[in-house]
Amino acid sequence: MQNLTVDSNLIHQAIHMTAKDALTRRPALSDLIRPFVDLFFHKAQCIAHLSTHTRLGDLQGAHDRLLSGIPVFTTLQLASWQEPLEMAFGWMLPAIRETFPAIDGDIEAITASYRDGGLQLVVLSEEYLDGSFKHYESAAQSIGVSGDTLGFVMSTVLSAALGSFAPKIGAEMEDVPWSKGNCPICGALPSVSFLAKPSGNAGEFLKDSGGQKFLHCGLCGHNWRINRHICPVCDNIDADLRIYLAAPDHPGERVDICRKCELYLPCIDLRERDAMPHLDTAAVCMVHLDILAQQQGFRPLSNLPWNRIEG
Ligand SMILES: [Zn+2]
Ligand SMILES: [Zn+2]
Repeated sequence: MQNLTVDSNLIHQAIHMTAKDALTRRPALSDLIRPFVDLFFHKAQCIAHLSTHTRLGDLQGAHDRLLSGIPVFTTLQLASWQEPLEMAFGWMLPAIRETFPAIDGDIEAITASYRDGGLQLVVLSEEYLDGSFKHYESAAQSIGVSGDTLGFVMSTVLSAALGSFAPKIGAEMEDVPWSKGNCPICGALPSVSFLAKPSGNAGEFLKDSGGQKFLHCGLCGHNWRINRHICPVCDNIDADLRIYLAAPDHPGERVDICRKCELYLPCIDLRERDAMPHLDTAAVCMVHLDILAQQQGFRPLSNLPWNRIEG
Protein backbone atom coordinates (compact mmCIF):
# COMPACT_ATOMS: atom_id res chain seq x y z
CA MET A 1 0.00 0.00 0.00
CA GLN A 2 1.54 3.30 -1.03
CA ASN A 3 1.56 6.61 0.81
CA LEU A 4 1.09 5.11 4.23
CA THR A 5 2.57 7.29 6.90
CA VAL A 6 4.28 6.20 10.11
CA ASP A 7 1.15 7.29 11.94
CA SER A 8 -1.04 4.73 10.22
CA ASN A 9 1.42 2.02 11.22
CA LEU A 10 1.13 3.20 14.81
CA ILE A 11 -2.66 3.17 14.52
CA HIS A 12 -2.51 -0.38 13.16
CA GLN A 13 -0.42 -1.41 16.13
CA ALA A 14 -2.84 0.25 18.57
CA ILE A 15 -5.86 -1.45 16.92
CA HIS A 16 -4.10 -4.81 17.04
CA MET A 17 -3.00 -4.50 20.68
CA THR A 18 -6.40 -3.21 21.86
CA ALA A 19 -8.26 -6.07 20.15
CA LYS A 20 -5.75 -8.70 21.27
CA ASP A 21 -6.01 -7.56 24.89
CA ALA A 22 -9.82 -7.64 24.81
CA LEU A 23 -10.08 -10.99 23.02
CA THR A 24 -7.66 -12.61 25.45
CA ARG A 25 -10.03 -11.64 28.25
CA ARG A 26 -13.29 -12.24 26.35
CA PRO A 27 -12.76 -14.73 23.49
CA ALA A 28 -16.52 -15.25 23.20
CA LEU A 29 -16.84 -11.76 21.69
CA SER A 30 -14.50 -12.59 18.81
CA ASP A 31 -17.17 -13.00 16.08
CA LEU A 32 -18.77 -9.68 17.01
CA ILE A 33 -15.56 -7.67 17.41
CA ARG A 34 -13.46 -9.01 14.51
CA PRO A 35 -15.36 -7.47 11.53
CA PHE A 36 -15.27 -4.00 13.12
CA VAL A 37 -11.58 -4.34 13.93
CA ASP A 38 -10.89 -5.27 10.29
CA LEU A 39 -12.96 -2.29 9.15
CA PHE A 40 -10.90 0.02 11.43
CA PHE A 41 -7.71 -1.30 9.77
CA HIS A 42 -9.13 -0.36 6.36
CA LYS A 43 -10.29 3.03 7.65
CA ALA A 44 -6.83 3.81 9.06
CA GLN A 45 -5.32 3.07 5.62
CA CYS A 46 -7.94 5.20 3.89
CA ILE A 47 -7.35 8.12 6.27
CA ALA A 48 -3.58 7.92 5.71
CA HIS A 49 -4.16 7.90 1.94
CA LEU A 50 -6.61 10.83 2.03
CA SER A 51 -4.35 12.85 4.34
CA THR A 52 -1.64 12.90 1.69
CA HIS A 53 -3.94 13.41 -1.32
CA THR A 54 -6.39 16.07 -0.24
CA ARG A 55 -6.09 19.55 1.18
CA LEU A 56 -8.08 21.12 3.95
CA GLY A 57 -10.92 22.98 2.20
CA ASP A 58 -12.18 26.45 2.88
CA LEU A 59 -13.12 26.75 6.52
CA GLN A 60 -13.77 30.46 6.54
CA GLY A 61 -15.95 31.34 9.47
CA ALA A 62 -15.29 28.06 11.31
CA HIS A 63 -13.85 29.96 14.29
CA ASP A 64 -16.94 32.16 14.54
CA ARG A 65 -19.26 29.18 14.19
CA LEU A 66 -17.51 27.38 17.02
CA LEU A 67 -17.66 30.48 19.21
CA SER A 68 -21.44 30.56 18.62
CA GLY A 69 -21.68 26.90 19.63
CA ILE A 70 -22.06 25.45 16.10
CA PRO A 71 -19.76 22.55 15.11
CA VAL A 72 -17.52 23.15 12.09
CA PHE A 73 -19.30 20.72 9.72
CA THR A 74 -22.92 20.99 10.90
CA THR A 75 -25.08 22.73 8.26
CA LEU A 76 -21.97 23.30 6.11
CA GLN A 77 -22.36 22.99 2.33
CA LEU A 78 -20.14 20.06 1.38
CA ALA A 79 -19.94 20.59 -2.41
CA SER A 80 -16.25 21.49 -2.12
CA TRP A 81 -15.63 18.25 -0.17
CA GLN A 82 -16.90 16.04 -2.98
CA GLU A 83 -13.47 14.72 -3.96
CA PRO A 84 -12.45 13.36 -0.53
CA LEU A 85 -15.97 11.94 -0.07
CA GLU A 86 -15.70 10.11 -3.40
CA MET A 87 -12.23 8.83 -2.54
CA ALA A 88 -13.50 7.57 0.83
CA PHE A 89 -16.49 5.92 -0.87
CA GLY A 90 -14.23 4.19 -3.41
CA TRP A 91 -11.93 2.94 -0.65
CA MET A 92 -14.41 1.95 2.05
CA LEU A 93 -17.20 0.24 0.06
CA PRO A 94 -14.96 -2.70 -0.98
CA ALA A 95 -13.72 -2.80 2.65
CA ILE A 96 -17.31 -3.13 3.95
CA ARG A 97 -17.97 -5.92 1.42
CA GLU A 98 -14.91 -7.78 2.63
CA THR A 99 -15.58 -7.39 6.34
CA PHE A 100 -19.38 -7.80 6.31
CA PRO A 101 -20.03 -10.42 3.59
CA ALA A 102 -23.63 -10.85 4.83
CA ILE A 103 -24.55 -7.49 3.25
CA ASP A 104 -22.50 -8.01 0.09
CA GLY A 105 -25.58 -7.72 -2.16
CA ASP A 106 -26.63 -4.42 -0.52
CA ILE A 107 -23.15 -2.94 -0.91
CA GLU A 108 -23.12 -3.97 -4.57
CA ALA A 109 -26.50 -2.25 -5.10
CA ILE A 110 -25.32 0.94 -3.34
CA THR A 111 -22.11 0.97 -5.41
CA ALA A 112 -24.12 0.50 -8.64
CA SER A 113 -26.44 3.36 -7.68
CA TYR A 114 -23.43 5.61 -7.05
CA ARG A 115 -21.91 4.71 -10.46
CA ASP A 116 -25.24 5.47 -12.20
CA GLY A 117 -25.42 8.88 -10.55
CA GLY A 118 -28.41 7.92 -8.40
CA LEU A 119 -26.71 8.09 -5.01
CA GLN A 120 -26.16 11.72 -4.02
CA LEU A 121 -23.05 11.41 -1.89
CA VAL A 122 -22.78 15.10 -0.98
CA VAL A 123 -26.48 15.53 -0.17
CA LEU A 124 -26.58 12.38 1.98
CA SER A 125 -23.41 13.51 3.78
CA GLU A 126 -24.88 16.94 4.53
CA GLU A 127 -28.09 15.36 5.82
CA TYR A 128 -26.13 12.90 7.97
CA LEU A 129 -24.18 15.74 9.59
CA ASP A 130 -27.15 18.04 10.16
CA GLY A 131 -29.19 15.09 11.48
CA SER A 132 -32.15 15.61 9.14
CA PHE A 133 -31.79 12.35 7.09
CA LYS A 134 -34.49 13.80 4.77
CA HIS A 135 -33.72 11.70 1.69
CA TYR A 136 -32.43 8.54 3.39
CA GLU A 137 -35.63 6.48 3.30
CA SER A 138 -36.43 7.36 -0.32
CA ALA A 139 -32.80 6.80 -1.40
CA ALA A 140 -32.66 3.45 0.41
CA GLN A 141 -35.98 2.37 -1.11
CA SER A 142 -34.95 3.24 -4.65
CA ILE A 143 -31.71 1.26 -4.22
CA GLY A 144 -33.55 -1.64 -2.55
CA VAL A 145 -31.67 -1.64 0.76
CA SER A 146 -32.70 -0.78 4.32
CA GLY A 147 -32.29 2.74 5.70
CA ASP A 148 -30.05 1.25 8.40
CA THR A 149 -27.66 -0.22 5.83
CA LEU A 150 -27.47 3.05 3.90
CA GLY A 151 -26.87 4.89 7.20
CA PHE A 152 -24.07 2.46 8.12
CA VAL A 153 -22.43 2.91 4.70
CA MET A 154 -22.65 6.71 4.88
CA SER A 155 -21.29 6.82 8.45
CA THR A 156 -18.34 4.63 7.35
CA VAL A 157 -17.58 6.84 4.33
CA LEU A 158 -17.97 10.07 6.32
CA SER A 159 -15.87 8.69 9.15
CA ALA A 160 -12.97 8.01 6.76
CA ALA A 161 -13.29 11.38 4.99
CA LEU A 162 -13.68 13.43 8.19
CA GLY A 163 -10.98 11.41 9.94
CA SER A 164 -8.41 12.73 7.48
CA PHE A 165 -9.34 16.36 8.25
CA ALA A 166 -10.27 16.30 11.94
CA PRO A 167 -6.67 16.34 13.29
CA LYS A 168 -5.79 19.37 11.12
CA ILE A 169 -9.02 21.22 11.96
CA GLY A 170 -8.71 20.30 15.64
CA ALA A 171 -5.18 21.75 15.71
CA GLU A 172 -6.37 25.00 14.07
CA MET A 173 -9.33 25.40 16.44
CA GLU A 174 -7.43 24.44 19.59
CA ASP A 175 -7.82 27.90 21.16
CA VAL A 176 -11.63 27.99 20.77
CA PRO A 177 -13.38 26.95 24.00
CA TRP A 178 -15.90 24.10 23.69
CA SER A 179 -17.65 22.46 26.63
CA LYS A 180 -20.59 20.77 24.89
CA GLY A 181 -21.39 17.07 24.73
CA ASN A 182 -21.35 16.86 20.93
CA CYS A 183 -18.25 16.99 18.75
CA PRO A 184 -17.00 20.50 17.86
CA ILE A 185 -15.80 19.26 14.46
CA CYS A 186 -18.68 17.15 13.10
CA GLY A 187 -21.45 17.56 15.70
CA ALA A 188 -21.81 13.82 16.44
CA LEU A 189 -22.37 12.55 19.96
CA PRO A 190 -19.39 10.68 21.47
CA SER A 191 -19.00 6.91 21.15
CA VAL A 192 -16.82 6.54 24.26
CA SER A 193 -15.15 8.69 26.91
CA PHE A 194 -11.82 8.35 28.73
CA LEU A 195 -10.20 9.55 31.91
CA ALA A 196 -6.68 10.81 31.22
CA LYS A 197 -3.46 9.78 32.91
CA PRO A 198 -1.58 12.41 34.92
CA SER A 199 0.09 14.84 32.51
CA GLY A 200 3.34 15.04 34.44
CA ASN A 201 3.01 18.84 34.37
CA ALA A 202 1.76 19.34 37.91
CA GLY A 203 2.71 22.61 39.51
CA GLU A 204 4.75 22.76 42.69
CA PHE A 205 1.71 22.96 44.97
CA LEU A 206 -0.92 21.27 42.82
CA LYS A 207 -0.80 17.51 42.56
CA ASP A 208 -1.78 16.37 39.08
CA SER A 209 -3.51 13.04 39.61
CA GLY A 210 -4.98 12.85 36.10
CA GLY A 211 -8.60 11.85 35.67
CA GLN A 212 -9.61 14.70 33.40
CA LYS A 213 -12.46 13.51 31.25
CA PHE A 214 -12.39 13.54 27.45
CA LEU A 215 -15.08 12.55 24.96
CA HIS A 216 -14.16 10.69 21.77
CA CYS A 217 -16.07 11.18 18.52
CA GLY A 218 -16.63 7.84 16.76
CA LEU A 219 -17.38 9.64 13.49
CA CYS A 220 -14.43 12.00 12.93
CA GLY A 221 -12.11 10.72 15.69
CA HIS A 222 -11.73 14.06 17.52
CA ASN A 223 -11.25 14.11 21.32
CA TRP A 224 -12.33 17.03 23.49
CA ARG A 225 -12.32 17.73 27.19
CA ILE A 226 -15.51 17.98 29.25
CA ASN A 227 -16.37 18.56 32.89
CA ARG A 228 -16.37 15.03 34.35
CA HIS A 229 -19.22 15.81 36.74
CA ILE A 230 -21.79 16.67 34.08
CA CYS A 231 -23.97 14.56 31.76
CA PRO A 232 -22.87 15.39 28.18
CA VAL A 233 -26.45 15.22 26.90
CA CYS A 234 -28.79 16.78 29.48
CA ASP A 235 -26.22 18.77 31.53
CA ASN A 236 -27.35 17.00 34.72
CA ILE A 237 -24.91 17.76 37.55
CA ASP A 238 -26.79 15.93 40.33
CA ALA A 239 -24.31 13.31 41.58
CA ASP A 240 -27.18 11.18 42.96
CA LEU A 241 -28.52 10.75 39.43
CA ARG A 242 -25.18 9.67 37.95
CA ILE A 243 -24.14 6.02 38.43
CA TYR A 244 -21.81 3.63 36.70
CA LEU A 245 -21.65 -0.07 35.93
CA ALA A 246 -18.44 -2.07 35.61
CA ALA A 247 -17.47 -5.71 35.22
CA PRO A 248 -15.67 -6.76 38.43
CA ASP A 249 -12.72 -8.31 36.57
CA HIS A 250 -11.70 -5.10 34.81
CA PRO A 251 -11.96 -1.90 36.85
CA GLY A 252 -10.55 0.30 34.03
CA GLU A 253 -13.73 -0.09 31.97
CA ARG A 254 -17.21 1.06 32.90
CA VAL A 255 -20.35 2.69 31.56
CA ASP A 256 -21.37 6.07 32.95
CA ILE A 257 -25.13 6.34 33.32
CA CYS A 258 -27.30 9.42 33.76
CA ARG A 259 -30.55 8.50 35.49
CA LYS A 260 -32.10 11.79 34.45
CA CYS A 261 -31.98 11.16 30.67
CA GLU A 262 -31.43 7.38 31.07
CA LEU A 263 -28.55 7.37 28.58
CA TYR A 264 -25.17 5.72 29.08
CA LEU A 265 -21.68 6.15 27.64
CA PRO A 266 -18.77 3.68 27.96
CA CYS A 267 -15.72 5.10 29.73
CA ILE A 268 -12.09 3.92 29.78
CA ASP A 269 -9.86 4.85 32.71
CA LEU A 270 -6.42 5.31 31.17
CA ARG A 271 -4.89 5.44 34.67
CA GLU A 272 -5.52 1.68 34.72
CA ARG A 273 -3.76 1.07 31.40
CA ASP A 274 -0.13 1.04 30.33
CA ALA A 275 -0.69 2.20 26.75
CA MET A 276 -3.25 4.38 25.00
CA PRO A 277 -5.77 2.03 23.34
CA HIS A 278 -7.29 2.61 19.92
CA LEU A 279 -10.49 4.22 21.16
CA ASP A 280 -12.90 2.99 18.46
CA THR A 281 -11.65 -0.57 18.92
CA ALA A 282 -11.84 -0.22 22.70
CA ALA A 283 -15.46 0.97 22.39
CA VAL A 284 -16.43 -2.12 20.35
CA CYS A 285 -14.57 -4.32 22.85
CA MET A 286 -16.77 -2.98 25.68
CA VAL A 287 -19.96 -4.38 24.14
CA HIS A 288 -20.43 -6.67 27.18
CA LEU A 289 -21.01 -3.46 29.19
CA ASP A 290 -23.47 -2.22 26.53
CA ILE A 291 -25.39 -5.46 27.12
CA LEU A 292 -25.29 -4.95 30.90
CA ALA A 293 -26.55 -1.35 30.68
CA GLN A 294 -29.28 -2.14 28.16
CA GLN A 295 -30.48 -5.10 30.26
CA GLN A 296 -31.08 -2.56 33.01
CA GLY A 297 -33.19 -0.40 30.72
CA PHE A 298 -30.68 2.30 29.74
CA ARG A 299 -30.08 3.45 26.16
CA PRO A 300 -26.76 4.20 24.46
CA LEU A 301 -25.91 7.87 24.05
CA SER A 302 -24.84 7.09 20.45
CA ASN A 303 -26.50 4.41 18.33
CA LEU A 304 -23.55 2.50 16.90
CA PRO A 305 -23.56 -0.57 14.64
CA TRP A 306 -22.36 -2.83 17.49
CA ASN A 307 -24.53 -1.58 20.33
CA ARG A 308 -27.94 -2.50 18.94
CA ILE A 309 -28.67 -5.36 21.23
CA GLU A 310 -31.87 -7.23 20.49
CA GLY A 311 -34.24 -8.38 23.20
ZN1 LIG B 1 -16.61 14.43 15.30
ZN1 LIG C 1 -28.33 13.04 31.21
